Amino acid sequence: MGELRRDPVRNRWVVIDPERPDREAALKVEAQPPPPLSGPCPLCPGNEAMTPPEIIAFGESSRQRNQTDWSVRVTPDLQPLCRIEGDFDRRPEGPFDVMNALGAHEIVIESPQHLLTWAEFPEQQLERVLRTYRMRSLDLRLDGRFRSLIVVKNNADAAGILRHPHSHVLALPFIPYGIEEELRGCREFYARKERCAFCDIILHERVSRVRRVVETDFFVVLAPFASRFPFETWLLPLRHASDFGKIGEKELVDLASLVKRTMQMVGKVLGNPSCTIVLHSTPFDEPHTHDYHWHLEIIPKTAPVAAFGWGARLFVNPIPPEEAAALMAQQM
Ligand SMILES: [Zn+2]
Ligand SMILES: [Zn+2]
Ligand SMILES: [Zn+2]
Repeated sequence: MGELRRDPVRNRWVVIDPERPDREAALKVEAQPPPPLSGPCPLCPGNEAMTPPEIIAFGESSRQRNQTDWSVRVTPDLQPLCRIEGDFDRRPEGPFDVMNALGAHEIVIESPQHLLTWAEFPEQQLERVLRTYRMRSLDLRLDGRFRSLIVVKNNADAAGILRHPHSHVLALPFIPYGIEEELRGCREFYARKERCAFCDIILHERVSRVRRVVETDFFVVLAPFASRFPFETWLLPLRHASDFGKIGEKELVDLASLVKRTMQMVGKVLGNPSCTIVLHSTPFDEPHTHDYHWHLEIIPKTAPVAAFGWGARLFVNPIPPEEAAALMAQQM
């Protein structure tokens, strides 16, 4: 018999049921060998001409633009979801709202090395990647057309065409639904209690410890109470902060090492599954300084999500987060 649990931020009920038949599949994922490359990798050093001209890159000061010898490189995406030039041309179509797909879609090429996961990254390289996210967040918010920024990474995604380590930075003229839902929940929570919902969660999980995986001076890693997916993992700053763009250097260095450790733990428990890692931070134009709390969400791709999950947004998770947290903590 499962248990129904409500997420206090999203106000969503989730079924946690360790007797589901897909439980075994969610506990072990076969690592997929990388698909053969059909041609040269456009993200590898030496192939800089295969990407759009770079936005920024980090390397020696003598390095020329769009040449090799970089450590991290940012370019527009090869197949962008949205374009940076033009205007919105907002228009109705009967009851529907339409506008041009305007926004920034950049890729962060995280390393010159072709096949490397975050668990394998040198810590300094992960620091460079996180600094790049911070820099892009601070830069893109200067464009008044953009309301929000998300960073999405698919770690070791066998299905992806590009196995070269990279992540997507999207600055959008709207707030994506996943963040909107959290903002709404946090605003309501704050209106009632005058406290940040995520701060309350952190406080509780640090005391009870049953879903806490690990913590450092600045961050905590936990399996959320109403985990939608097996081994869903959140990484949150201990001290209240709504905006990732304002992260300090000390915290950033700590975060890099913790992200690496967390990915190593996930990898050891599940056998290096593909993971989606998402950065959720406050929108540019609505700072939500008091009621929102930035965080990273890590979602390993284990068992396929049951059809009712996508159809009705009803999530059934066969791995209780207490068990996921304990299994991960054992790997430290
Ligand atoms: Zn490559
Ligand atoms: Zn908070
Ligand atoms: Zn979130």
